[in-house]
Amino acid sequence: MFIKSTLISTGSLFRAVCYSTTINNGFNLKRTLDKVKRQEDNKILKSVLRNRIIECPKDVDVLRSEVINSKGNFSERNVDRALLNHFCHEGQFRNGINYIEFLNKEIKSKLNLFLVIQTFRMYYYERHRKKSLSNVEEEYLISLYKDLRNSFPILDVVSIECAILGLSITKEWKKCLDLLQEASRIDQPSNTSYNAVIASAFLNGEEEIGWMLIKEMFEKHRTPSYVAFSAYIEKLEQVKNKTEIMMKLEKLFTLCKENDIILPEKVIEELGSLLRTNSIQANLTSINKRGCCSCCQQKLDAFEVTNEMFEELKDKFITNVIVGKNIFSKTTPEEFARFQSFLKTIDDCSVVIDGLNVAYSVGTKHSSSVCSAFLANVVAYFVNRNKKVLVLGREHMNRWPKKNWNYVKNNAKLFLTQDLSQDDPYLLYAALHLGKNTMIVTRDLMRSHLFLLKEPSDKIMFSRWLSQRQYQIKYVTGFGKVIFNIPMPYMRTIQKNGDYLHIPYQTKEEKNNESNETSNSWLCIHLSS
Ligand SMILES: [Zn+2]
Repeated sequence: MFIKSTLISTGSLFRAVCYSTTINNGFNLKRTLDKVKRQEDNKILKSVLRNRIIECPKDVDVLRSEVINSKGNFSERNVDRALLNHFCHEGQFRNGINYIEFLNKEIKSKLNLFLVIQTFRMYYYERHRKKSLSNVEEEYLISLYKDLRNSFPILDVVSIECAILGLSITKEWKKCLDLLQEASRIDQPSNTSYNAVIASAFLNGEEEIGWMLIKEMFEKHRTPSYVAFSAYIEKLEQVKNKTEIMMKLEKLFTLCKENDIILPEKVIEELGSLLRTNSIQANLTSINKRGCCSCCQQKLDAFEVTNEMFEELKDKFITNVIVGKNIFSKTTPEEFARFQSFLKTIDDCSVVIDGLNVAYSVGTKHSSSVCSAFLANVVAYFVNRNKKVLVLGREHMNRWPKKNWNYVKNNAKLFLTQDLSQDDPYLLYAALHLGKNTMIVTRDLMRSHLFLLKEPSDKIMFSRWLSQRQYQIKYVTGFGKVIFNIPMPYMRTIQKNGDYLHIPYQTKEEKNNESNETSNSWLCIHLSS
């Protein structure tokens, strides 16, 4: 078994080294190796645990030895941790709970801290998945917490947070408020801890505590997630009065709107079911390119920014993001001054293109003739639509093949920075300078700069402005035709349109994909139904 395992690891190692050599960095090599090992172990656990149900102590024995004797990196020392993490990750909470119970019987020794905290985690996720917990289970968790505190009066932050998860689903949930304090004396409590306590406050009818903790999260630049919102809706299932339900939902929607929260799909499913149970029409829908809902045909609102608002936003952005962060430290003051003077001469441009970023959309491995041809295509797209275009680029682009590069030079205003300069700040600065209706063309979303704006309301406003001005390159056809993600003529935020309420949501695919594409999935609620 050992030999076999070594052989397989060597194969993985070879692949990892090949990959990592291109990165040429020792730290990355180790990370890559660890990642490969983890992926192989996960594959093994997945296959061993497929359709498996743990019902008796013998099942635990069989499973443990099967995993230890597999080709993965498992031993007597790490097998329980690996299995429990896997149960949690795969949502097999009942298996996890049974596994711990039978393991505990076998150990018959003093309290095992690792197993206790895993028990809290499993019960917590299982409770929020099933939306129920028996009295016996509740009592068990309470007594487990008591035993834990008797055996370990001082806990590390991870154990405290798991204890929060366990206690939050019992009638002793208010102890979690003290535990949050205890955790915050060591470190910032995690989002999961906050969500657990917020959910229990909502479920136990102590809404004010829930809202107070949400406020605290926002102050710490954190956002509540599924468990908290789902608990709020679960509690509303007990309310029989339609008007009261809508009033309480209004509070939730206002919070989402003011803080630019996009609810996850699972919450929308639960919300839809709550509404339909109360005879309120709620349908999943999408918004067409003209900004109308496919379900009710109402037109959604675009983001309107007045000149005054835009000027204010521009000042804040320049002060906080550009000057405050010394974002031009990679360039020279002379270059930036040259850029500012240049901008004064091109006030008629309405499109700013991030030249290098756009050119490399075809792939960085392509030759400069392919990249430059693509950039020329993008410039032509706007020129053919009678737009005046500004291209920001780097000096080395001057060495690109003449035919394409001359097209860019002759049809667009051009500003080239030194090869080391950052592009994003130049791009945003130019767009802000050219006015609120400027179109920005890049492959990136440029969201990272938003975090440098201090006020949440400024972040939201800037993000909405950007989302309505940005042409993001989606792909290029084999014939060089450019396909854009064109900004939609509506805001992706909860809004009332006529007698309908529209709520955007994040699909599971959007949450998992890395393509930067936002989904066009909405819930349409008929308010007077
Ligand atoms: Zn609608």
